[in-house]
Parts: sequence; C-alpha cells; structure tokens
Amino acid sequence: MAAAIIDGRRLAAQVRSECRERVQALVSARITPQLAVVLAGDEPASRIYVQNKLKACEEVGVASTLHALPHDAAEEDVLSLIRALNADPHVHGILVQLPLPPQISAQRVIFTIEATKDVDGFHLYNVGALAAGEPTFAPCTPQGVMRLLDAAAIPIEGQHAVVVGASNIVGKPMAMMLMRRHATVTVCHVKTRDLRAHTLQADILVVAAGRPGLIKADMVRPGGTVIDVGINRLPDGSIVGDVDFAAVATKAGHITPVPGGVGPMTIAMLMLNTVEAAAAQSKFRRTWQCSEEWHAQNADLQKAR
Ligand code: NAP
Repeated sequence: MAAAIIDGRRLAAQVRSECRERVQALVSARITPQLAVVLAGDEPASRIYVQNKLKACEEVGVASTLHALPHDAAEEDVLSLIRALNADPHVHGILVQLPLPPQISAQRVIFTIEATKDVDGFHLYNVGALAAGEPTFAPCTPQGVMRLLDAAAIPIEGQHAVVVGASNIVGKPMAMMLMRRHATVTVCHVKTRDLRAHTLQADILVVAAGRPGLIKADMVRPGGTVIDVGINRLPDGSIVGDVDFAAVATKAGHITPVPGGVGPMTIAMLMLNTVEAAAAQSKFRRTWQCSEEWHAQNADLQKAR
C-alpha cells in the first residue's frame, strides 16, 4: 500500500495565514513585526533561501530588511551590525543566513544576537531553554517537523523515534522536541554502527543527514512515518531528500516529499517565531515603560527617603 503523503506546502500556507491574522492584530496595536536578515557573501543557495524568507515576510505582513555584506566582510563588521540590530527597537527578529564566509565565526555571530531576537533559536540561551524544557525560540526546522506530525495525527507519546543526523540546527533539537513529547528517541550519526538496525525500529524516522538516497526501503519499518529533512541538489539540478522516496513510499505509512515537505514548514515557523518575538517584546517594553513612568512619578518620594 502506498504511504499517505504529508503535505508541507498546504500546512505551511495554513501557518502563514495564522501568522497574517496575528500580524494584523499587532499592527492594529501599532506594532509592525520586523525581521532583519543578514547575508554575508554571495553563495547562490543562500541567496535563494534569503529571497524565499523575504517573500514569506511580505506575504504575512512582516516588515523585513536585508543587510547584505560582501564575502570578504570582516567578522567585526558583522558583529557591529548585529549589535546595532539588537539595539534597534523596531527590529524584533534577527536571522543570520548560514553558512558564513570562513573568516567569520558563526558561533560568535549567533551568540552576539540578543536571545529575545534570536528567531532561529540557535543562541546558547535558547538552546539551553529547549534542553531544560522551557523553550523560548525553538529552531524552525524541527519545530516544523513537530507541526507536520501533529497535523497528520501521528502519535508521538511512547513511540520509538529515530533521528538520523545530530547537527545543532536539526538533529539535536529534533531529538529534544520528540523527547519532550515522551517519544523514546535514538539519535544516529556518522559513527553509528549498523544504521539499518536502528532505522528499522522507528515508528517515526526523521532523516537529516544531507546524503541523497541514504534511506532505502529495506531500512524502513512497514507502516512507519518517514520525515525527510534533507535537501540535496543533484548534478542534473534536481532537488532530492535523503530518502529514496519512490521505494520508501511503498512501505511507509506516512512520508514527506522533497520538495514540498519540511522545507516550506521551516520558513513558516520562522514567520511564527518573528510574530512571537514582536508580541513578547512589545509586552516587555510596555512593562518596562510602566516601570520607567513609575520611577519618574515616584522620584520625589524616593529623594525624600
Ligand atoms: P549537517 O550539519 O551536515 O549534519 C548532518 C548530520 O548527519 C551530522 O550529525 C552527521 O553525523 C549525520 N550524518 C551524515 N552522514 C550520515 C550517515 N551516512 N549516517 C548517519 N548519519 C549521518 O547538516 P544539517 O544542517 O543538519 O542538515 C541536514 C540536511 O537537512 C541537509 O540536507 C540540509 O540541506 C537539510 N536541511 C533542510 C532544512 C529544511 O528546511 N528542510 C533545514 C535545514 C537543513 P556527524 O555528526 O557524526 O557528522
């Protein structure tokens, strides 16, 4: 029997429309969510990703600014730009498109972003918050996968989830999110012995290795759910995931396609995080302004003490 296709495009459109409504509510309270996108260098794939993110901003009504730096920009140029964006009250979210040119430390740049504006969820504070079960901004791709699983009504609690890939931006946060929902999680990486023995046990298999065709039909449990995060460009220009889609779809119960699965959800979740950032910051600013007013009003009283 052929697997049911989990349609990421359709769900992403629903999430964007949810965002649009929330943006309208914020705008009527005179807050326009704004995302600053930092792009250093001229990698064609990065340019395409950035264009797609800016297009999504336009669609949901989020204001966006693109800060493009040359490929030979100094690290300090990027850091001072980030500091200026941190200090700008009109900017609610900051996204740095990765990878950065080799002379710039991605870690230093990401850790310089104010945690409350880190809509990618890569800052140490947000990584720690996710690990501690107090998520502020969760990374967009694994967050998108969780939404896809829920939309397809895939049970998570008590299920065995196998994550292939252990990167900071996909595999590790994915494992933590599944664990928080009480799945039993196995994480596989390059040094995992007998990958197939693990993937065969998966009720939910999430693959984020960046290796086209890594997961074949004989590695998948019949009726299992297969989420393909991989995005690989083949020499003929076509885009494929990490899963042999045609063969695996004859065996799995549910499967995401590439393109049209996880990819659109990643951008939709970025919009959601930006809207959340704007809402949270405006609330904080109101509280802060209140306390400033309070101090001004009580200045005489305090002097008298
Ligand atoms: P990454 O940083 O290169 O990490 C790849 C991970 O996969 C590593 O943990 C690596 O193990 C593991 N791995 C590689 N080959 C493996 C193998 N043969 N068996 C088992 N594990 C293996 O990549 P990433 O940034 O996580 O991205 C992974 C893929 O997802 C890429 O194709 C990327 O383009 C795609 N992606 C898609 C989206 C989206 O929106 N759909 C978003 C982000 C990334 P080690 O840790 O041992 O090296």
